[in-house]
This record gives sequence, C-alpha cells and structure tokens, in this order.
Amino acid sequence: MVHLTRVAATLIILVLGVSTAPALTFNFTNQGGATPQMMAGVAQAGALWSAHFHDAITVNIRIHAAALPLGVIGHTDSFFDPYSYTNVRGALVSDRLSTDDLSSSNNLQAGSTFSMLINRTANNPNGVVSATPYFDTGLGGPGQAGPENNNTVRITSANAKALGLYPAHSAGLDATITFSNQNIFDFDRSNGINAAQIDFLGATAHELGHALGFISGVDTLAGNGNAPGLNDNQLRFLTPLDLFRFSTRSIGAGGGLGVNDWTADDTTKYFSVDGGSTSIVPFSTGAIYEESHWKNNLGIGIMNPTVSVGTLLQISDNDLRAFDVIGYDFVTLPEPSTRLLSAVGLIGVALFACGKLWRA
Ligand SMILES: [Zn+2]
Repeated sequence: MVHLTRVAATLIILVLGVSTAPALTFNFTNQGGATPQMMAGVAQAGALWSAHFHDAITVNIRIHAAALPLGVIGHTDSFFDPYSYTNVRGALVSDRLSTDDLSSSNNLQAGSTFSMLINRTANNPNGVVSATPYFDTGLGGPGQAGPENNNTVRITSANAKALGLYPAHSAGLDATITFSNQNIFDFDRSNGINAAQIDFLGATAHELGHALGFISGVDTLAGNGNAPGLNDNQLRFLTPLDLFRFSTRSIGAGGGLGVNDWTADDTTKYFSVDGGSTSIVPFSTGAIYEESHWKNNLGIGIMNPTVSVGTLLQISDNDLRAFDVIGYDFVTLPEPSTRLLSAVGLIGVALFACGKLWRA
C-alpha cells in the first residue's frame, strides 16, 4: 500500500508539472457556419504553432465558413490596437531570448519616433499620392504633417498578448477566420493531400499566422493610395512585422540601418533581423498579392500568398524567425547551424485574402 501511494503521488506531481507549463493556447469557437470537420482541423492547426511557441497566452479565434470570391480559400479579420513605439520597442527588448531577438531589437531605431520610406500619401512632396518615395522622419519637413505615424505601432491583440502589452488571457475576440464553404479541403494529412484539394490544416495555420501578427500595414497604405489619399500622419498602421521590412533604398542614402521601407510599390522589400544589412527573404510587394505575405512562388514558407492543390503546407524556418522577432518565444531555441529552408515550391492556384479589422 505504501509503495502504491508513492507511485500515485509521483504521478500527480508529473501531471501538475505538465499542466502548469506555459503554452500558446488557442480557443476556437464556431460562428455557426463551420463544419465539425473544420473545427477539428483548426484545433490541429493551432497545435502546429503551439509546438513551436510557448508564450503563455490564450488567443480567441472565431471560425466561420461562407461563399468567398472565386479562388479565395480563406481570410482573416484581426483586432488591432495602437501602441507607442517606445512601449513596443521596450516590449521587444524585454521579450528577447534568441539570437535573432537580440540582433533585431538592437537594430531598432532609437528614440520615440522612427523614420520610414513612404509614398502614396496625400501630402507627398512629389505630388498628391505620388508613387515617388520620400523619407518621413516624424521630425517635420516636406510631406510630414505630424509624427503620429512615426510613433505608433498597430498590433494584433494576439501579438500584443505575446509582447505583454495586452492581458495574456483576455477573453475578447482576437480574430475571425472565414473559410470557403466549397468542397475544396483535404482534412486528413495522414495519407497526403488529395491532388485536387487544399491542405486544410496548412491553410488554417496560414490564417492563424495573420491573427498572430504576420501582417503589414502597407496594405492599408496601398488601399488608400488613390486621390485624395491620406496624409502621412493619418497612416498609423505600421505593424511589428513592418519594423523588419527593408529595402536597399530605405537603408541607403537618406535613410540608414533600421529605417523601414513602408512604400506601396514593386521595389523589393525584404525581411531582415539586423536592421536591413542582411536580406533573409523578400516580402510580397502587393502588385498582385497582399503585402502581408512572403513573396510568392519562392517556397519561402507558410505565409506565402498562394497555395497549390495537393500540397502539404509546412511552417518553415523563415516563418518561425518572423514570429520570433515580433514577440513569440520558441519552445526550444533553434541552433542557427541546423536551420532548414523550406522547399514548399508552391504554384499559385488559390489565394489567401487577409482582411483587417481595426479596433476603434
Ligand atoms: Zn494570407
């Protein structure tokens, strides 16, 4: 009896140890249109992210299914809030654990405002909504109506939870993901992905990635890029991911290390964790696909803008590095020497459309 009691006590301790470990937790609710199969699939997709990151937060996602435009398989509406750049930089510094965290936060611009290369503003000195870029320092000068867009960062509530800027287990909704209600998904990965269908778990992981913060405010700039447009200081939509969006021209003459490229045009913008010195992979420039993605058809990662049928979608090292530097913490810190590049090799046949829902 004594022996059995000791075994039982040991088991209890083990259970407590597991249950108290921090975890990135998703709380999925059905808006009504999602099938039981979808709800089971989104839970498995959430686990794909939770296997990599262990931030002790609860992310509340509503799942819906509806008729979407032809070729669109899903989209995400996330709640955002504005934060001061000073607080965001402080949170990113407090959150750093990996070598990428150290490098990326060390290269953030100092001070309470950040400079960016911008275009398409109503007050662009080159002409109303001109595509010609200019440097906006937030310190005044041509094309600068005020510093508001240089001292504000818009963050999805899930990302803000990971950064400690928003209550970690706040019960409010963080995002709604809407899937196509057409019969286009393969829900079972165990036997590969049907050649005529889309990997539902991978597609869901992609949409969850937007809710977690893989999103660019340049989509908002582009959406307001026609006359009359908005003045620079009205465009307070730079996201944490945009802090790591650079081009050779944004860090070149007139800019400098750490100066973001926040223009809406086709010039190559790349993800960098050292202030722009080194390009890791390019972002989408929005000419065809939204800016809130990697550049298409390069096999960069699960945040590519398109998917092909019959393909198992994998979270890549590029994806993980992006989520790491915007505030998520690895379950196990990666060894830089063992990093693997994704070779997804997607061919664009179906499109992710990734909407935004701004919290007032
Ligand atoms: Zn997307």
